[in-house]
Amino acid sequence: MTDIEPAQWTRRGFGRFLGGAAGLATLGSFAAACTGSGNGTANAGDLAASGSAVAAGDASASPTASSSGADGSGVDADLLMQRYGLKPFTAPATPATKAIALDPQNPTIFAKVPTSEKICFVTVDDGIDKDPAFIQMVKDVQVPITISLADTLIRDDYAYFEKLHETGFVSIQNHTVNHPLSMPSMGYQEQFDEIAGQQTKLHKEYGVTPYIFRPPGGNYDSVTREACRAAGLKGMMLWKEAMEIQDMEYQTSDRHLQPGDVILCHFRGPAQLKGETMVKMMTRLYSHIQAQGFTVADVTRYV
Ligand SMILES: [Zn+2]
Repeated sequence: MTDIEPAQWTRRGFGRFLGGAAGLATLGSFAAACTGSGNGTANAGDLAASGSAVAAGDASASPTASSSGADGSGVDADLLMQRYGLKPFTAPATPATKAIALDPQNPTIFAKVPTSEKICFVTVDDGIDKDPAFIQMVKDVQVPITISLADTLIRDDYAYFEKLHETGFVSIQNHTVNHPLSMPSMGYQEQFDEIAGQQTKLHKEYGVTPYIFRPPGGNYDSVTREACRAAGLKGMMLWKEAMEIQDMEYQTSDRHLQPGDVILCHFRGPAQLKGETMVKMMTRLYSHIQAQGFTVADVTRYV
């Protein structure tokens, strides 16, 4: 995947939803960013193996959903049905150990978590759309999400993501300062500045220290990995499915979630979704997950 060209992302990914809208060209390039083949060419050696679990103590240190919410106990089932047409999600058992032990010396690349449970992980990138109704949705649905933020797309409203973070269901991770779509074409210093610079900004704005990096467009090389290591990040998270307006783009022909899959979404609104809202898109995503008998888990508990 390190050599995917922008045209390819556009064909395969979100770019087609923006067709012809010249005024959206800039946003379009960002919006297309994360719909490349998230785990395309990572070789098996890069992917985290199961069985190398770390101590359970690490799990409690994770920034994660409150237990009262994550177990579904605080969910208003009637409201959820009325407002979104969704049932409450069943909370998965909290794992005693993490299924993937990240290697800080050689940041671990993963697109799924080894598990037999019917769980998946919802990750939301970039930060273009900032719909207050989505914050309400996160509070209503009460399932964890991991958001990977790029400074250039959030700096017009840092407070939005602060409010999202305050829900207690959100983990904030690193997605660079400027969202460069071709990190492999950049030198070490440039890549390091993108990643380390965003660590600093996210810490300043939200008091967090991300440990997972999501490369824009899923494009990275060995230099990216080295820059991640030097910036203190321990893992690089790719994905198995990418949510579009109506359904997920699957990487397998059976079009079905597999246990432990990471799902990529974006903060997108009517300008990027043909008039649809972020809430509507996420409602569809959650419906698809429930229809396949899956529930949503917190990636920071497993990685
Ligand atoms: Zn992105």
